[in-house]
Amino acid sequence: MVMNSAKQYLWLVLIAFCIAGLVYPAIGVVALVCMLAPVVTAPFMGRKWCNSFCPRGSFNDVILKKITLKKGIPGVFKTTTFKVIFLIMLMSFFAIQLTFAWGNWSSVGAVFVRMVLITTIIDIILGIYYHQRTWCAFCPMGTMGGWVFKLKNRIKKGMMKRDAVGDNVV
Ligand code: SF4
Repeated sequence: MVMNSAKQYLWLVLIAFCIAGLVYPAIGVVALVCMLAPVVTAPFMGRKWCNSFCPRGSFNDVILKKITLKKGIPGVFKTTTFKVIFLIMLMSFFAIQLTFAWGNWSSVGAVFVRMVLITTIIDIILGIYYHQRTWCAFCPMGTMGGWVFKLKNRIKKGMMKRDAVGDNVV
C-alpha cells in the first residue's frame, strides 16, 4: 500500500532531475543511484525496483499510461539480441562521453543529464505510440537487473540440488 502510493509520485523525481540537471549539470551524477539500483537490488528484491521504485517506471505507469495508444510492445524490443545490442551501444556511447568529461564534475554530470534526457525522449515517443512500458522492455539497467536475478536463482537452484545430493549420500 505504502509502495503503491509512493509510486504515484516518484515520477516527479524524474521531472525534477531533468529540470535541475539542465540548470545545474553537476547534479546529474545522482542518476547513478537509479542506474545501479535495479542491478544492485535484483538479488534481494527481484524486479521490485522496476515495479515500484524506479522514477521512470512510475512516470510510465502514472503519466504515459494515460496517453498511450496501447498498440502493444513490438516483439523485437523483447528479444535478447536487441537488448544486448542496445545495451552495448548505449553503454559505449555513455563511456566515451564520460572519458572526455572526466575530471570536471559539471561535465560528468552533464553526461548523465544528457543520457537521461535522451532516453526519456525515446521513452515518451515509444510509450505514447506502443505501450507505456516499451522502454522498460529493453532498458539496459532493467535488462542487467533481470540477468542478475536469473543468475541468483540459478545459483540458488544449483546449491539446493547439491544439498539434496549430499543428503542422499549421507
Ligand atoms: S526497466 Fe529501466 S526504466 Fe523501466 S522500471 Fe526498470 S530501471 Fe526503470
